[in-house]
Amino acid sequence: MRYSKTFIPTLKENPAEAEIISHRLMLRAGFIRKLTAGVYSYLPIGLTVIRKVENIVREEMNRAGALELLMPMVQPADLWMESGRYKKYGPELLRFQDRHERESCLGPTHEEVITDIVRKELHSYRDMPVNLYQIQTKFRDEIRPRFGLMRGREFVMKDAYSFDVSDEAASESYVKMYEAYKRIFARCGLDYRAVQADSGTIGGSFSHEFMVLAENGEDTIVICNDCEYAANMEKATVVLKEPADSAESLPLEKVETPGKRTVDTVCEFLGIEPRQLVKTMVYMADGKPVAALVRGDRQIEKVKLTNLLGATELEMAGEQEVFDATGVPTGYLGPAGLKIRIVADQEVAAMKNFYAGGNEKNYHVKNVNLGRDFEVDAVADLREITTDDPCPECGGRLGLTEGIEVGHVFKLGTGYSEKMNATFQDKDGQEKHFVMGCYGVGVTRVVAAAIEQHHDDNGIIWPVALAPYSVVIVNLGIQDEVINPAAEKLYSDLLAAGVEVLIDDRDERPGFKFKDADLLGIPYRVTVGKGFKKSGMVEVRERRSGETKEMAPEEAIAFLQ
Ligand code: ATP
Ligand code: MG
Ligand code: MG
Ligand code: MG
Repeated sequence: MRYSKTFIPTLKENPAEAEIISHRLMLRAGFIRKLTAGVYSYLPIGLTVIRKVENIVREEMNRAGALELLMPMVQPADLWMESGRYKKYGPELLRFQDRHERESCLGPTHEEVITDIVRKELHSYRDMPVNLYQIQTKFRDEIRPRFGLMRGREFVMKDAYSFDVSDEAASESYVKMYEAYKRIFARCGLDYRAVQADSGTIGGSFSHEFMVLAENGEDTIVICNDCEYAANMEKATVVLKEPADSAESLPLEKVETPGKRTVDTVCEFLGIEPRQLVKTMVYMADGKPVAALVRGDRQIEKVKLTNLLGATELEMAGEQEVFDATGVPTGYLGPAGLKIRIVADQEVAAMKNFYAGGNEKNYHVKNVNLGRDFEVDAVADLREITTDDPCPECGGRLGLTEGIEVGHVFKLGTGYSEKMNATFQDKDGQEKHFVMGCYGVGVTRVVAAAIEQHHDDNGIIWPVALAPYSVVIVNLGIQDEVINPAAEKLYSDLLAAGVEVLIDDRDERPGFKFKDADLLGIPYRVTVGKGFKKSGMVEVRERRSGETKEMAPEEAIAFLQ
């Protein structure tokens, strides 16, 4: 490719809108441009890198025996009602009506659509195992889209879905995908960890996240220094006998809890499952509650209770009261979106008492305790795990680190196939539900994560497998009778050798060209300049190390292939 014929609008200045390095560099290097919040155009050089990731993903999925298909982005709400997720998914699901007033949505994920295909087309145990995948644009109306491609509203995902005859067979499919993911992220040149994860709203029984280690990661992961244990924060968070920061643990006042129906109603209202509704108070050393840990949409959020606790009257700005089916208020919902707080009336009353001065020392207020209302293992006194806690597996020392979730594998079980009545006939003639798994890779997020891990002050440093070009030739004598033909010959020879090469044939100053070459992050730069006239040598420079070597053009061609 000739630089003069490309469309790579680089920026010399740091764009003010970009908070993290990958976002800044992708804008500066002309990879992406923002259309609206969380929605980006992928410019030619950016698309080239996205395609590289897609191809690696595609090759590894195919190698693992998965079959590519492509499903629609627009989905009928009916399917989501069948699975029960139309209510549960919450505001990330962008809903709209078509001209016939049919409820529709933009696919944030495709369990419903694929289950619909499979229940109609696959009928026998002989059809399995099957794993179908697509690489497709997803839409999630993220509450806080940010960091460019890292958390977009529109983004490219690879999503795969496996269908098996039994739980054991589904485990095999899961392991295959787990192994494929390891290959994918290794080939992308990423330093990552596969960590145990909770399976959250999507349901299911078993799950791992693939986390790229990076300072700007939005997730915290827990890694044991003494064994293989690695988990995300949520999964690692331990069930504690005592409140974390309190001086002493105490018998609690028995707060009346809302009945099962009430909690159900509240969860339905919030569009989440009861098991996600986990809350505990965080205490200061003096026993003063300062925050609550709330789990909603698989995030544990610290929600400050100042509003709640500081107010004489219960004032919760912008928050809504939640009523049960009979119209009795049962709690409060807010703040909007993922940060969900449920406070039972009884609890509010107890906390108000506590704060009204009648607080016996060592008294703790507890919230809605789902453990009393539901059989769910995740419910208890939760606080975030710390490095002071022992490793849940070996008792060893834990470390915390930041990570970017680039992939996620779930063993789903029969949740979807039961709700959507997707069955096959087994060997013994019986109708059984498909045992499913689902597996996602954030293709566009991988690009951002790669930059987070591979850059320096001058720009991106692409891992070779993701680089838009492997080599950039910097022609420093466009007008020169010796340099120009030599650079052009090198270009055509490298092309002929199958090397992905960009030639900077713009009539610009050397410094200008070198800056762009560094910014774009192309692994090797070959400079054809005055030196060539003197000695017949070109300069080959490795982007990552900055090391340079003088070589004859033929030598450079052999070296760069
Ligand atoms: P997150 O925790 O970051 O919100 P998720 O757990 O909601 O991600 P999944 O449903 O597991 O995401 O989707 C599979 C993969 O899609 C994720 O592992 C991630 O790499 C990618 N992904 C999810 N949301 C986004 C987004 N808003 N922008 C870019 N990639 C995303
Ligand atoms: Mg999400
Ligand atoms: Mg996640
Ligand atoms: Mg996930």
